[in-house]
Amino acid sequence: MAFPRWTEEHRSFRETVRRFTKDEIRPFAEQWQAEGYFPDEIFGKAGALGLLGVRFDPAWGGSGLDYWYTVILVEELIRGRDIGCVVGLLVQSEMATTVIHDYGSDELKKEWLVPVIRGERIASLGVTEPSGGSDVAALTTSARRDGDDYIIRGAKTFITNGTRAHFVMLAARTGGAGAAGVSLFVVPTDVKGFTVSKRLRKIDLHSSDTAELFFDDVRVPRSNLIGEEGQGFRYIMRSFQGERLVLATMVNSLCRDLLEETMEYLGQRKAFGQTIGSMQVWRHRMADLMTDLEASELLTYRAADDLVSGSPEAEVSVSMAKLYAAEMVRRVIPECGHAYGGYGFMEEYYIARCSRGVQNWGIGAGTSEVMREIIAKRRMSKPRG
Ligand SMILES: Cc1cc2nc3c(=O)[nH]c(=O)nc-3n(C[C@H](O)[C@H](O)[C@H](O)COP(=O)(O)OP(=O)(O)OC[C@H]3O[C@@H](n4cnc5c(N)ncnc54)[C@H](O)[C@@H]3O)c2cc1C
Repeated sequence: MAFPRWTEEHRSFRETVRRFTKDEIRPFAEQWQAEGYFPDEIFGKAGALGLLGVRFDPAWGGSGLDYWYTVILVEELIRGRDIGCVVGLLVQSEMATTVIHDYGSDELKKEWLVPVIRGERIASLGVTEPSGGSDVAALTTSARRDGDDYIIRGAKTFITNGTRAHFVMLAARTGGAGAAGVSLFVVPTDVKGFTVSKRLRKIDLHSSDTAELFFDDVRVPRSNLIGEEGQGFRYIMRSFQGERLVLATMVNSLCRDLLEETMEYLGQRKAFGQTIGSMQVWRHRMADLMTDLEASELLTYRAADDLVSGSPEAEVSVSMAKLYAAEMVRRVIPECGHAYGGYGFMEEYYIARCSRGVQNWGIGAGTSEVMREIIAKRRMSKPRG
């Protein structure tokens, strides 16, 4: 593919992630999903290879690279076939900690970011609440000033790494209603008043732990505020760009893996004296899906390019990439599952397990409706050029 133009450095980084995935995730993927947990040690192993701080400043232990390397990281990790584990790793490196890196004080970075990049501490992201996740500006968890502390009260739900995290990057209300009242905090999970529900039972991503978190007058020092009070909404929305690029890339890489495997299967499986892959109906179906996938990949690469160049179009292209990928996977997975006949319904087949998670790709990191709202708001208010 002419775009993106991968360099030797990209290829070498891809090789590192590929080896890590092959040695440390793939052999254990089915076991972890069956057991419903992946071991914490994987964070340390990823950290030792520099995979948890790809875009972070080398001054804090990061690699100082750009979003193209995030794309490569995600494309390769997904090939490990334990998406739950990959989601846990990426919440740590690409979702919960970017705001600490971009806006946090040096003290916060030293205490929380450095050990996260090394994989010695585990992070979670606490934005969604039981009353709603799409409307972030309406969140109700409160953080009230009390001398040199804040006192936090409220609840968060669907929190990835929720039962194992050492801290939560928490969004809470410090001011009045709306976006201007939202601030971000680092909240350690060993403090008085913090409790975690038992793990939530999901229909997919079984190895990742997802939980509800409760803050019952949790006291944190003022120094745990990330950046400025009242700027939290702006910080999160900026960080969501990377998160959505990650989600779109996950979907593309998953679909490529599944399509390749399905085409191989169709090349071997026979019916009516010929391989199913030689039947025109299946050749054309596969051609359509490959075209769909490639369109999605190109849109995602365009979004990565916009993020790397700092283009003002990035918000729109990232939203389009996430939206398109979330729709594309709903076409690819059921069709691939159908190609497997009865085996597409059997637990030991990866395609069957992936079928359960299809709907989630249009939910996490902002739903498809939220993506459409962003695109419409930006594009429908733009004067014709
Ligand atoms: C496996 C998993 C892991 C997750 N991990 C995390 C995590 O680590 N941290 C975290 O903070 N959150 C996490 N989430 C939560 C996720 O971000 C939210 O589920 C998501 O943002 C949607 O919020 P909601 O579930 O409250 O749905 P709601 O906001 O209640 O929306 C319900 C439906 O209404 C639609 N809707 C909402 N607004 C509009 C509108 N304006 N126009 C049209 N339709 C609309 C939505 O698109 C959706 O279909 C996770 C979720 C899952 C499933």
